[in-house]
Amino acid sequence: MKRILDRFLNPEVPLRLRLFQLLSAIALAEFVIVSVYQVVQGSNLLHIGIMLFGTLFFAATVAFTFRSGHMRAGATVSGLLYFAIYPLTFFSSGGMYGGAPVVFAFALVYVFLITEKWERVMALAICITTSGICYLLAWRHPEMLTRHSVSAEHVESFLSIMLVTLLLCTLFRFVTRVYREENKIVQRQKKEIEDLSQVQKRFFSSMSHEIRTPVNAIIGLNEMTLREKSISDEVRENAQNIEVAGKTLLQTINEVMDMSRLETGTMQIVEDDYRSTAVLSDIVGMVWLRAQEKGLEFSVRVDPQLPSVLHGDEVRIRQILLNVITNAVKYTKEGSVTLAVSGKTEDNGAFSLVFDVSDTGIGIREESIPYLFSAFQRVDEQNVHKIEGTGLGLSIVRQLLDLMNGSVTVASEYGKGSCFHIEIPQTVVNAAPVGEVDVTRSRAVTAPAEQPPSAVPDMRVLAVDDTPMNLMVVKKLLRDTGVTLETAASGAEALQKTALAHFDVILMDHQMPEMDGIECLHRIREQEDGKCRDSKIVCLTANVGAEMQTVYRQEGFDGYLMKPVKGRVLEDELARLAGA
Ligand code: ADP
Repeated sequence: MKRILDRFLNPEVPLRLRLFQLLSAIALAEFVIVSVYQVVQGSNLLHIGIMLFGTLFFAATVAFTFRSGHMRAGATVSGLLYFAIYPLTFFSSGGMYGGAPVVFAFALVYVFLITEKWERVMALAICITTSGICYLLAWRHPEMLTRHSVSAEHVESFLSIMLVTLLLCTLFRFVTRVYREENKIVQRQKKEIEDLSQVQKRFFSSMSHEIRTPVNAIIGLNEMTLREKSISDEVRENAQNIEVAGKTLLQTINEVMDMSRLETGTMQIVEDDYRSTAVLSDIVGMVWLRAQEKGLEFSVRVDPQLPSVLHGDEVRIRQILLNVITNAVKYTKEGSVTLAVSGKTEDNGAFSLVFDVSDTGIGIREESIPYLFSAFQRVDEQNVHKIEGTGLGLSIVRQLLDLMNGSVTVASEYGKGSCFHIEIPQTVVNAAPVGEVDVTRSRAVTAPAEQPPSAVPDMRVLAVDDTPMNLMVVKKLLRDTGVTLETAASGAEALQKTALAHFDVILMDHQMPEMDGIECLHRIREQEDGKCRDSKIVCLTANVGAEMQTVYRQEGFDGYLMKPVKGRVLEDELARLAGA
């Protein structure tokens, strides 16, 4: 019995086949019971013969289907059997006065459940027509019916109703059990998928951290080489190539990380108030430099009416813009790249930040535009294969815009240039217009070659990191400044040092064994007789992500620097903290 039940509940067998087998087994039981009853009753031989034949034939069909799993063949044969036997049983068992009508109801349920689509329509049509003809004939020619005794007809009718009720109850139980079992399976699979996505998230996050740490050393130490005045041209060229390769590697890691976060649904949009022109500051500087290197003209137009303070995810907006402008510069050999920034207010008062990035580059074929935003897909391969890229950037742009309810459209003429139009809904915090914005200032601020580095005052700095190479990089980057640097290789060592001496700034790694950077920060702040309870503590970490920045701010860090950190950025941060 248990084996049979397991068989009916086995989720590996298609549900329809299990249903067919269950219904057939019940029908078979019904055939057997009715046959035995006929024999005991001493019914006429024709009737008993029909029932016995039906029972054996049905048993053979069910056995065949059980063994072979060929449900279609089994269903067809049993359908035909029904078609052939039903009129005979109907007339020989007293028509509507016997058990045939109830059996007919069972047959309809049976056919309905085990067939599908047009087969179901056909089978039901055949059943109903056959039964209808039987009723019509019995009505018009009552002499065709073999009536049983009144008592036998009552018993037969009662028996049939009992059998069909039993059948419906069993069916109902079966369906409920199957539903419960399948529900359990779905819940288990859901949990497995969630676990998998967590594992994937942890894997990507630790991979990113693990890759960033050595790249930090490579880029940091390479910067020291580049700062040397006495090196040969060849060494300088090698170091410059290492720098470019390092940056590309980092860019790729970031893109893969973002992609994985977007795919697992863990990318978060972190909103805050920001100055609308701030989104331009870094970008303009970075792109300006690249455009200049390629001999391209780069111009920025900011609508003077743009509201000055907005609310939204500034970091992600920058990322979107940087991606699109970098592409414009990357895919333009000569001519110009233009960025226009404006605002758009809908009739209902909703405000959107609007960017138009146009270039005079290689352009995009019309038929390729639908594929631009697909992950890992680069269009116009033969033209762009020499240009570095993963094909992830625009896919990330589209997904980030989706998260912020924004949109991007592309207009392009192949060989002439492209224009990317981006709209991002934002909340206006301060509607006062920005007025004339002098973007050349941001260019000057961020073009390192043209600006002397911020003067770092004499200050005592403690760098805390469990990776000796990282400490060495910080040491070398700050070598020529007025900073007195001490290092600690763990949270515990840092606490020993902060208990004894004051440091103006503490550069704190996040991921460290035993005590991580966040715990260490809190312990320094609460350290009894500690000398650094009010020191500025900056998180210097290989953990990237906009949400991490927010976490660090909420935990109480005074700043956030991402590894690999440039000497210039580190110096600027120390100067900022000294002035703060
Ligand atoms: P990639 O890393 O290849 O630049 P993206 O997702 O940023 O990946 O861009 C996808 C493809 O779209 C690029 O490979 C390129 O063929 C095309 N593309 C993107 N921006 C431009 C542009 N401004 N001009 C011409 N083609 C572009």
